[in-house]
Amino acid sequence: MDWYGSMIILLPAILLSFYAQSKVSSTFNKYSKVKNLNGYTGRDIAESILRNAGLFDVRVESVKGNLTDHYDPRKKVVRLSDSVYNSTSIAAVGVAAHECGHALQDAKGYAFLKFRHAIFPVVSFSSNLAMPLIFLGFFLDAFNLIQLGVILFGAVVLFQLITLPVEFNASSRAIAILDNNNYLSANEVKPARKVLNAAALTYVAAAIVAIANLLRFLIILNGRRR
Ligand SMILES: [Zn+2]
Repeated sequence: MDWYGSMIILLPAILLSFYAQSKVSSTFNKYSKVKNLNGYTGRDIAESILRNAGLFDVRVESVKGNLTDHYDPRKKVVRLSDSVYNSTSIAAVGVAAHECGHALQDAKGYAFLKFRHAIFPVVSFSSNLAMPLIFLGFFLDAFNLIQLGVILFGAVVLFQLITLPVEFNASSRAIAILDNNNYLSANEVKPARKVLNAAALTYVAAAIVAIANLLRFLIILNGRRR
């Protein structure tokens, strides 16, 4: 199998990735039009969850963009996008609670999050270098360069895999908090979970794309060796 022939491994993964992207957009759009009964904004929920958990040092800010919501562990800030920060939708509340889930992981020293942070510098270095090395290796027909590129790419795959438990755990924390503290009614928890599951699927798809690529590189590499 060569560079183009091995694309067949990648294709289903890329299709899943497209599906996941459209699913998260459509689910978020659907439930960003449904207001929660208590009228909480994303910001209200985030502030309330953080204070109830005793995390007084974590701030809540708004950030530009669409689905750009995240938790910054270095600055201890939960950043919520415009469509979440001031919105009283079920989707907004779900996303805000999820980002607080990451803040709680950070506060409690959740192992996968710590590990993810620890390897991040190595991974950002590797991800910049892996593909250029692999391409250059093919261009120069240099087996060692391809091999080094593939090893670096392996670090990227590892990172994507560690991201999965981190994301699933943040979502399950979020849903439990929204449900147990009656931020959302029983009927509202289900759609909130749908939004978070759709978001989780994009991480699963990204990991599968990375694994498929790694597999492809290994097959090509193996073919060169013989
Ligand atoms: Zn997350």
